[in-house]
Amino acid sequence: MELDRFPRLSLAHLPTPIEPLPRLSARLGGPQVFVKRDDATGLALGGNKVRKLEYLLADAIEQGATTVITSGGVQSNHARQTAAAAARLGLACELVLPEIVDIPSHEYRHGGNVLIDRLCGAKVHVVPDGAAAQQRIADIERRVRNDGRAPYTIPVGGSNALGALGYAAAAVELLRQCESGDQSPRQSFDALVVANGSAGTHAGLLAGLLAGLAEGQALPRVYGISVAASAEIQVPKTVRLAEETLSLVGIAGVDVVRHVTVLDDYIGPGYGQPTAEAYEAIELAARLEGLLLDPVYTGKAMAGLVDLVRRGEFRPDQRVLFWHTGGAPGLFAYESWLSRRLDESAG
Ligand SMILES: *Cc1c(COP(=O)(O)O)cnc(C)c1O
Repeated sequence: MELDRFPRLSLAHLPTPIEPLPRLSARLGGPQVFVKRDDATGLALGGNKVRKLEYLLADAIEQGATTVITSGGVQSNHARQTAAAAARLGLACELVLPEIVDIPSHEYRHGGNVLIDRLCGAKVHVVPDGAAAQQRIADIERRVRNDGRAPYTIPVGGSNALGALGYAAAAVELLRQCESGDQSPRQSFDALVVANGSAGTHAGLLAGLLAGLAEGQALPRVYGISVAASAEIQVPKTVRLAEETLSLVGIAGVDVVRHVTVLDDYIGPGYGQPTAEAYEAIELAARLEGLLLDPVYTGKAMAGLVDLVRRGEFRPDQRVLFWHTGGAPGLFAYESWLSRRLDESAG
């Protein structure tokens, strides 16, 4: 795999640890569950986007960019990590945040990730919807060019093939950890569970595993838990992105389709809309392991893992890796919902 020919910045604390979750595993009574701590990538409260930004912003700098532009929901973790990375690199940052999630609370609109965007010096543009966001991005690009500066626009979630390379590299990191037994027992995993939003994480991991596994080594099944779109939309998107990522690293002719599993049963009413199952997962992880999940991504992904275990998807001797993608800053944006649930569960 030709990963090394792409310029890459060092922004994340790597490798991220792999930790067992013994109390959660015991409670669920199924396989041994482990966590890959990409919530601990370090930059401004961490998360999965830092790995993508190592490649995307290296490209931006190579192209002479002065201003980074990106987009995401108001509580976008991707926007926050981009703002922090831009600050660290001395680049200007403009964030276009469509109000695609109908949560009018003060903490949703101003707390959590948005607060950190502003602390890191990003210019925040809140717009009504996706169409307005596209329009605004074009306007900003024009203004930046007219000022004699150079814009670099990153797609939602950093999910193009270049961004997904961050997760191809993460798959290689995982394979090395499994081999060396440095941070984890010297064994492989039977399955990976990861949130799938804009698909770059899932697609990059698959591409990296397919490219990095030695001949004859078994590919762990990767379960992508969709947090927004139906499997009908998300499967082809993930397949296409994995194929593009593989072709970027010089690998052709891999049958990607049969390896892509996306489950869309844990979305609830929609993207960013919390569910009872996500709450249960958040509470379990916090109370049994001191591990923080979020209502938008990792809570739903863990709800998927919990449900798969309860439905007998895994044998007790199997090892399942929950790929934690971050998002805990979003907890503070959902303070009223969480407090209400906590009061209810306290009785
Ligand atoms: C963006 C994000 C995801 C989803 O990653 P994609 O590459 O967009 O599929 C999952 N978890 C968190 C916390 C995120 O911020």
